[in-house]
Amino acid sequence: MSNVVSFNNVFKSYKEINALIDVTIELQPGIYGLIGPNGAGKSTLIRLMATLDTPSLGSIKYNDTPVSEIKGHYRSMIGLMPQEQKGYEYFTGLSFLYYMAVLKGIDRADAKIQIQQLIKQVSLEDSIHRKLKTFSGGMRQRLMFAQALLGNPKILILDEPTAGLDPFERIKLRNYISQIAKDKIVLIATHVMQDIESIADKVFLLKEGKVVFNGSGEELLKTISGKVFEEQISVDQISKYQGMYKLSKVFKFDNSYLVRYLDDTRNDGNQTPNFEDAYLYYMVDHEDISE
Ligand code: ADP
Repeated sequence: MSNVVSFNNVFKSYKEINALIDVTIELQPGIYGLIGPNGAGKSTLIRLMATLDTPSLGSIKYNDTPVSEIKGHYRSMIGLMPQEQKGYEYFTGLSFLYYMAVLKGIDRADAKIQIQQLIKQVSLEDSIHRKLKTFSGGMRQRLMFAQALLGNPKILILDEPTAGLDPFERIKLRNYISQIAKDKIVLIATHVMQDIESIADKVFLLKEGKVVFNGSGEELLKTISGKVFEEQISVDQISKYQGMYKLSKVFKFDNSYLVRYLDDTRNDGNQTPNFEDAYLYYMVDHEDISE
């Protein structure tokens, strides 16, 4: 059975703000990274995909049927991990999961089996009887991830899933995500490239409401191949480089700098591009960083 969500020329505006502009994307089973700085429109796109809001123009379809026509059925297939959520502080982890299972209409016997599996999957066995107010940021994120998986959704939407996590917890969550992704559409919204660079099949770069890149990570890096340079320069050259290029890294030595920069006019770069370079290339305007 097919499992495809498509955005077809979707616009969303709030009064005079255009939060999404002519977005056309297709999501088949796989992991998708939705990348953009704050304000780019990521949450808006997620709200539309989860039918929590509707487009101003254009359509969102599930297997060619507008989601507005199959809202309840479509929604029942979605697992959503919202951005950092407070509340439920006096629930224990376990009672929170049962509560969410009830909201999703899962019967108690089935919920019990699923919850036990999920607790193991996200390694919360030791803390699941504690109240949420005593949970660390990492435990809370893992719990939110677990509740998103209740009901075995075909479409999993994760909004900034690694917010507030330390580097080790980020890696763990990334691993959980790639383990469960099989046969699901997984959309991960984040402004942290590392969250998705090793696991995403496809990347959507969103800037000021527009999709400015849509393709695999490999294709993304290819688009800036030959444009990335590293060079050792003297201290008095730094302002010239800042004025001319997007600098992705500056290391200071005693009397010199090692700079990593992007030069759009050349194709003989001496460095292999990485995802941070790509983020800089597509997302950051030169004026924003040359000061
Ligand atoms: P992101 O999640 O990438 O940070 P958002 O989707 O939250 O971006 O916001 C995109 C743009 O739409 C921003 O300019 C934001 O201020 C605006 N926006 C989002 N939601 C609303 C709303 N309910 N009312 C008015 N403006 C909004």
